[in-house]
Amino acid sequence: MPSFASLNLSPAMLANLGELGYAAPTAIQAASLPAVLAGRDVLAQAKTGSGKTAAFGIGLMERLDRDGQGVQALVLCPTRELAVQVADELRRVARFQPNVKVATVTGGVPIRRQEQSLTHPAHVVVGTPGRVLQLLQRGSLILDGVRTLVLDEADRMLDMGFIDQIDAIVRHVPRERQTLCFSATLPEGVRALAAAVLATPEHITVDRQHAPGVISHAFLGAAESDKGRATLTLLAQHPLESAIIFCNTKAQCRAVYAALNAAGVHSLAFHGDLDQADRTLVMVRFANQSCRVLVATDVAARGLDIQGLDAVINYDLPFEPQTYVHRVGRTGRAGATGHAFSLVTPGQGARVQAICEVLGADHQTTPAPLDIDGPSPALAPPMVTLSISGGRKAKISAGDVLGALTAKGGVAGQDVGQIDRMEQVTFVAVKRAAAEAALRILRSTPIKGRRFRVARHG
Ligand code: AMP
Repeated sequence: MPSFASLNLSPAMLANLGELGYAAPTAIQAASLPAVLAGRDVLAQAKTGSGKTAAFGIGLMERLDRDGQGVQALVLCPTRELAVQVADELRRVARFQPNVKVATVTGGVPIRRQEQSLTHPAHVVVGTPGRVLQLLQRGSLILDGVRTLVLDEADRMLDMGFIDQIDAIVRHVPRERQTLCFSATLPEGVRALAAAVLATPEHITVDRQHAPGVISHAFLGAAESDKGRATLTLLAQHPLESAIIFCNTKAQCRAVYAALNAAGVHSLAFHGDLDQADRTLVMVRFANQSCRVLVATDVAARGLDIQGLDAVINYDLPFEPQTYVHRVGRTGRAGATGHAFSLVTPGQGARVQAICEVLGADHQTTPAPLDIDGPSPALAPPMVTLSISGGRKAKISAGDVLGALTAKGGVAGQDVGQIDRMEQVTFVAVKRAAAEAALRILRSTPIKGRRFRVARHG
């Protein structure tokens, strides 16, 4: 097995990776780091969860000139959520270097605030193409000193229609640079983009798909009118910690969400009509175990960096086999078997066949189970999310929230789950049984000397 020590990293970086618990490079890191560190262009096929962020992050940080002026690296990501995650991972990787500034610039946040934060020079900017271009056009982001450009999840950026923005941004970046392009899939559009912006890149492919057997694929025949009942039966028969149900349209997504909740299944809908605050709340609730089932469209789910699901249910079969691969790739990670269930209506046999060709296996379509007399799928999720109307801006820390909750015979520490601090709001997950007590305490206890509004979600 390759080791980080054999990759010519600085001693400080090696020590930091050890502290982060990164014992050995992942396959994509082992394969791409030599080229990345040598300053070469790279076109790498790798998906979320492969360690790709650290693959370019380690390279960026090792090549950073901390005394240099201006932005030295630009990372473009398809969504705000991904940009935030990438920036967090870059900060982890950069921890050993004092004063490395990583700025995030994305839509959904007032542009003036980002302009203000850019007045303190950042070494690395992570952003979504639309906002980066806007800042460039306003003259508040200068990329003349960029030495490395990273296109992260290039396929998703193209799917989301960012090609023109990417082209325009590339024109603001010096020609003499290193360009790294990471993409889960390599359709024609990504190859064309790579041909246009990369110079004689090294091609790297690892772990294109899951090893066979890690995901079980079930294709279940059901009439359109039986799909709701079939979904409830699947949820009842397979007690799932977490699942995403995919629909092809927003309207279908809303209808399935309403039907599930009417049947007592706590679920949340995730589609393009949600505003940024609602999207954030859905993601937080799903990640902190106060919602087990998400009903999502493909476009909305692109922004979700959720992996390791127990199951993906294709309420609607996707039109493209590649979409199927994207959807089910969210399940079955880290040694656990994931389940993909797809409801197939009469006349969709050709679509199943096209998917199976991509999967490289034969699958039979069997009738969907429609018996919901079994155990109830209505189990409430273990946690409930409370929101507090102050976040990083109000200087609230996770410790403040935990302290307020657990002080003087309050809630037991083990009943408090994940605490997520956003700019203007903080979310805390608490065990369902402790939720009312936690709500009372937070409403009556000042934090940082202030009373905040507190709401319960679910
Ligand atoms: P990514 O594919 O970049 O989204 O990374 C997936 C997760 O793997 C992140 O939570 C990283 O912190 C983690 N990770 C990255 N590299 C390593 C490594 N070499 N060993 C263990 N974990 C890692």
